[in-house]
Amino acid sequence: MERQERQDFLMFIERLDHFAVGLFRQFRIEEGTDRVVLVAPTETYKRWAIEYIGSRLKNYVKKIEVKSADEAENKSLQESYNSNLVERFTFENFVVGRANELAYKVCLEVAEKPGTAFNPVFLYGNVGLGKTHLLHALGNMARSKGFKVIYSSINDFSDEMIEYLRKGNIGRFRERYMGVDLILLDDVQFLTGKERTQVELFRLFESMYLMDKQIVLVSDRHPKDLRDISDRLISRFEGGLVLEIGLDDDTKLSIIKQKLILYGLPVDKVAMDYIFDTTGYNVREIEGAIKTLKVVGIKPLENRTEKDVQFVIEFVAKHFGLKPDHLRKDTKERRIINAKQMAMYLCKAVLGISYTEISRQFGKRDHTWAIYSIKKIEERVREDRKFKYMLSFLEKQLRKELGKY
Ligand code: ADP
Ligand code: MG
Repeated sequence: MERQERQDFLMFIERLDHFAVGLFRQFRIEEGTDRVVLVAPTETYKRWAIEYIGSRLKNYVKKIEVKSADEAENKSLQESYNSNLVERFTFENFVVGRANELAYKVCLEVAEKPGTAFNPVFLYGNVGLGKTHLLHALGNMARSKGFKVIYSSINDFSDEMIEYLRKGNIGRFRERYMGVDLILLDDVQFLTGKERTQVELFRLFESMYLMDKQIVLVSDRHPKDLRDISDRLISRFEGGLVLEIGLDDDTKLSIIKQKLILYGLPVDKVAMDYIFDTTGYNVREIEGAIKTLKVVGIKPLENRTEKDVQFVIEFVAKHFGLKPDHLRKDTKERRIINAKQMAMYLCKAVLGISYTEISRQFGKRDHTWAIYSIKKIEERVREDRKFKYMLSFLEKQLRKELGKY
């Protein structure tokens, strides 16, 4: 494949909608000199590729061929592609402490003997506390012991179900899930209002239960606090082992230590205290702060903040063709408000400074103002994919430039 052609091809994949990108990841791409072969995990995927993207693909790549995994004589591929497990999440690299120990032990036990002791398991807790990590660790371990596993977030599960329904073969969908020993379902709170998915999940529950097969569910809240989910499903969730996962100070410190080592940074008291004080009880936030530390380094907090914020303001202003001063002043102009909110968002994401400090730097005393502004950007990120790409590009660029100065 020529370089240009390859780029066009990658662009094409980028432009597919969310659902298609999800399916597309299941394909293996074999690149020859004069053609590209997409190897689909199953016949269904192959048909989908030909029907849905075949004609569009032709605009980008001249010679393209779709094979199913069987045709490619690689049957084992099918299973590995379908489990959706992320190998990097393991029990070994999960830091255990008081507030997550029970969840850890139960997951370990379930991985050893699925469908026996605790079934179903319902794990809940705030964001960034390692729920998804544990779920994958469980899956990876069970799989290494020869059990068949499927991991799916509720949104993917729902999308997949709708696709099978649309094609009129919901039976295949059920076979796919009932054929495994362990089903791991993430972000169960997204079942809210998805009635058809709830019906299908309930059905799956009943069958799996009869066959002594394991289900593990993860959610950001207790089953009692879930909304718009049928009572019979909630009572199934509550019928098993319901466990909370949290984060305590000691574990937070151990995690900071582990991540400092992981990112090749020295583990000293200054760095540990610094990360501890500037982050909340959220491991994702801790990871973000350590990445920032890696590029920005620790300089005395007070005189650094001002310069860094100025840097972010200049960076954003340049991007929007504005003057840095514009972003520090009050305004009613939409374009400037947008840029300002984005600059505040980047101050939080990249510099990790407090809401109070951000508000102060942008000329307001009340910290809720920064919270509000940043929330606006987060909402847009969730709703607008193009905006999300643009912002993550800006964020990367900013990290790079901050590293240099
Ligand atoms: P959740 O699903 O609860 O929102 P994740 O499982 O996605 O959180 O965790 C966020 C990040 O923090 C991941 O990169 C994960 O590897 C890491 N992480 C969370 N808890 C731990 C832990 N106890 N030890 C090591 N890494 C952790
Ligand atoms: Mg998660």
